[in-house]
Amino acid sequence: MELHGTNSQVECQTCHQRSDPEPHFSYFRETRRSPICGCGGFLKPATISFGQNLRPEDLSRSEDAASHADFVIALGSTLSVYPAAEIPLLAARNGVPYAIINRGATEHDVLPQVTIRMEDDVEKVFPPAVAAALNER
Ligand SMILES: [Zn+2]
Repeated sequence: MELHGTNSQVECQTCHQRSDPEPHFSYFRETRRSPICGCGGFLKPATISFGQNLRPEDLSRSEDAASHADFVIALGSTLSVYPAAEIPLLAARNGVPYAIINRGATEHDVLPQVTIRMEDDVEKVFPPAVAAALNER
């Protein structure tokens, strides 16, 4: 789930329709005019920008998934931006293991719900950890 949106699509700021960005980039390259939606609304990458609210349905799905998780891992985040930083805590408060991998301190480092805290680059630590876990099955 992409709680903070995605760069792989653009979204109309009026009707919220999402679409492939490439036709809009082509339009801009050819016309040097800002692409707009069929409804007349402005388009921007379908990410949540500073000052924008999370999509309520995405937040709700994230909270639901967290409340049913068997294990939660926070990767490459300072866990300082809420409500997204609350998501792993929803799972951890149910007593499931909570792992944090980040280079640098996080706001959850001192919480008793954290099972393991690894100080390192996610891309260096996480893929081998997943591979090792899968090989143990
Ligand atoms: Zn639109």
